[in-house]
Amino acid sequence: MSAPPAANVLETVGRTPLVSLGAAPESVPVYAKLESFNPGASVKDRIGKYMLEAMLDRGAISPGGTVIEPTAGNTGIGIAVAAGQLDLDAVFVVPERFSVEKQQLMAALGAEVINTPTSEGMGGAIERAHELADELEDSVVPQQFSNPLNTEAHYETTAPEIYGALEGAVGAVVAGCGTAGTLMGLARYARERDSDTYVGAVEPEGSLYATTKGIDGEEGEYKTEGIGTHDPATNELFEPDLVDEVLQVSDRDAHDELKRLAREEGHLVASSAGAASVAARRVAARIETGELEVPYDSVVTVFPDSSERYLSKGIYREFEEWDG
Ligand code: PMP
Repeated sequence: MSAPPAANVLETVGRTPLVSLGAAPESVPVYAKLESFNPGASVKDRIGKYMLEAMLDRGAISPGGTVIEPTAGNTGIGIAVAAGQLDLDAVFVVPERFSVEKQQLMAALGAEVINTPTSEGMGGAIERAHELADELEDSVVPQQFSNPLNTEAHYETTAPEIYGALEGAVGAVVAGCGTAGTLMGLARYARERDSDTYVGAVEPEGSLYATTKGIDGEEGEYKTEGIGTHDPATNELFEPDLVDEVLQVSDRDAHDELKRLAREEGHLVASSAGAASVAARRVAARIETGELEVPYDSVVTVFPDSSERYLSKGIYREFEEWDG
C-alpha cells in the first residue's frame, strides 16, 4: 500500500529504512538505519525538525525570527530544511575547513552562511553565533552540543522506529558520537526497555571520548567527519554512565569499510557510517563468541549520511589521497 501524499517536505523526515548488513555474522544480525533517506540526506534532519518545532511551541522563538547555529554542516542543512517550512530565517556559522557541498546546500535552502577561520575550530564558530544572537532580535541559538532536545529527538523518533521494526529484539546499540545526541537518545530508550542492552559509542582513533571511561586516549587528528571530540567537556549531552564502552576505529578501517559497503552492499555512505559499521560488526562478533552477553543476539547501528556529500574530498580515492 502506498503512503498518502505528504503536505510538505518536513513530513518526510524520519521513518528511514532499517537494513540488514550482509557482512554480519550469521547468528548475530547487524541492522543499519539509513539516515540519508531524509530530505536533507542526513540524520540531522530529525533534530532540525524536532528542535525548531519544540522551540516554536515553547515560545523560545516566533515565526519570522532567526535561528543561528554553529555547525559543521549536516545540522545546518537539517535546520535549514525545517526553518524554510516553519517561516524562520537561518544563519549558520561554519569553520572554513568543512565540506563545500554542505555549505552550498545550506545556501540553496535559503540560509546565510558565515565562515570562521579553521584555526579557531568549533569554539570560534560557537562564540561568533552567540555574538550574532546578541545583536539580532527574536533570534535563538539551538546549540546542538548542549540542547537536550537533540537527544530527545532520537529518543522520540529514531529509537521507537528501530524497536518497532525489530519488535523490541535489540541486543546492542552501537553508534558514532559527534554531539552524542543520536547515541544518547537510543541508549536512554534501550536501557528503559532492558537495562542489560549493550551500548557502544563509536569514535575515531585520536578522539577523546574514551577518556570519559577512564581509558588513556592519545589525542590525534582524524579524517573521519562528524564524530569524535578533542574536548569532551564541550559535548555536554554525552553521558558516560549510559555507555558500556567507547569503541575506537582507525581512519583506515573506516575508509576501507565505506568502500566495501559501496562495492559489496550498495550503500553510498560516508566515513562516520564506515566507522559505525566496523564497530557494530566487531560487537556482533564478540556476541557470537559469547564474550559479550546481551538480551537478544542482534546489533543496531546508524549510517548518518551519504558519501555524495564528500566527493570533493576524494572520499572514494585511495586512503592516502582522501582529504578527510
Ligand atoms: N556522522 C555525521 C556525518 C554527522 O554529521 C554527525 C553529526 N555531527 C554524526 C555522525 C554524529 O551524530 P551525533 O551528533 O548525533 O552524535
